[in-house]
Amino acid sequence: MPDTPPTLPGLAIIGGGPAGLMAAEVARAAGIEVDVFEGKGSVGRKFLIAGKGGLNLTHAEPRPGFDARYRERRDAVGAWLDDFDADALREWARGLGIDTYVGSSHRVFPADRKAAPLLRGWVRRLRDQGVRFHVQHQWLGWSDDGALRFSTPAGELHVAAPATVLALGGASWPQLGSDGAWQPLLAARGVDVAPLAPSNCGFDIGWSEHFANRHAGTPLKPVVAFWREDGREHQRQGECVVTTTGIEGSLVYALSAPLRDAIARDGEATLHLDLAPGREFDRLHRDLGKPRNGRSVSEHLRRQTGLTGVRSALLHEVLGKAQMDDVELLARTIKRLPLVLKHARPVEEAISSAGGVRLEAMDARLMLDALTGVFCAGEMLDWEAPTGGYLLTACFASGHRAGLGAVEWLRSTASSPITSGN
Ligand SMILES: Cc1cc2nc3c(=O)[nH]c(=O)nc-3n(C[C@H](O)[C@H](O)[C@H](O)COP(=O)(O)OP(=O)(O)OC[C@H]3O[C@@H](n4cnc5c(N)ncnc54)[C@H](O)[C@@H]3O)c2cc1C
Repeated sequence: MPDTPPTLPGLAIIGGGPAGLMAAEVARAAGIEVDVFEGKGSVGRKFLIAGKGGLNLTHAEPRPGFDARYRERRDAVGAWLDDFDADALREWARGLGIDTYVGSSHRVFPADRKAAPLLRGWVRRLRDQGVRFHVQHQWLGWSDDGALRFSTPAGELHVAAPATVLALGGASWPQLGSDGAWQPLLAARGVDVAPLAPSNCGFDIGWSEHFANRHAGTPLKPVVAFWREDGREHQRQGECVVTTTGIEGSLVYALSAPLRDAIARDGEATLHLDLAPGREFDRLHRDLGKPRNGRSVSEHLRRQTGLTGVRSALLHEVLGKAQMDDVELLARTIKRLPLVLKHARPVEEAISSAGGVRLEAMDARLMLDALTGVFCAGEMLDWEAPTGGYLLTACFASGHRAGLGAVEWLRSTASSPITSGN
């Protein structure tokens, strides 16, 4: 290792996901030299996987409802969206030749619903604009003299950078590159980091073996979920899927933040499901009260309510044999099936992460208070949102904010190596 590591001419961006690439784009457009370092052999792997489900780029919900999806971080994320919102994102995609459309659920997708053409065109444009890419460069932290340390196929490399944007992602799907290994590196430098936790995740319930063997993988659609949050009951219709250990799917993902927080607070959370959204309790009660004429409960349930398969099995799973004969209780349980959620599934399986670098640990430009000249962006920041395009939108918007923040900072200061503020 040379005594003095080479110094980059401008901005080092570590992490080639949507947040890092957007930071690269705005900084380069402002005339700054940009080097992007990525641990994997190519950039944007999670973005490509997001494309497998149709690439839900953003959402057509108007503001301020859009901002409210970021819960307690609505104001902070809203400030990023003031500069780069859903419309700006659609316009940006159009600039890459990718038209978008609003789907029936108001989610916004590229016309071809694919991520690969968008990413390919974007990386090509960044290269043409002079952004330098360094793949297979896994960031290891800082050396004693403040240089960035990378593990590369050619051995360890140290480079000094006048400014750095960290856009290292959360900890979901770590096989795609974002593994959360940055947490102790930043914490050791005095950065306040909320532990990464699963968001948009499934939950464990602990089915009987019989139920799990027969029904894992079976969808429940539509159902209405009821849950308590902020002292009130809320409800929402959607779809979920029974898993070997519990439940997952878009309806459960959307509720994952309050359910996860309730488990952390109370040890467990109860989610109620209406298994027959189109039927009133009174009618169920009346129909189930008709004589069974020697038929089994399951057959009676099928004939009188149309509930079969996994819905019927759920009732058997939750109610004992004797309780299934109690018409009033059975009708009530069809309308309010209680599911006791024990744990969130691990963050590695989740669609996204909650937690991360606390926004209080940085200024409005997204520069860390503890590390002058170091900015953070994307999912590694402490915000969360449901699926629906809100995740990518905040990643792009924070990358935009951090990239411009780094430009402003570089212009306001003589080029100097990164110094710890501690
Ligand atoms: C299956 C799936 C589907 C999804 N679908 C959607 C969707 O349709 N819509 C939506 O809005 N969101 C979706 N998301 C979420 C969205 O993909 C992420 O929120 C987004 O990619 C995060 O962007 P980012 O730039 O912050 O981080 P990432 O995309 O995770 O990128 C971080 C990059 O940093 C690199 N890196 C990490 N550590 C290091 C290191 N030490 N050194 C060097 N490089 C490092 C990683 O390899 C990675 O390339 C989906 C997620 C998953 C898992």
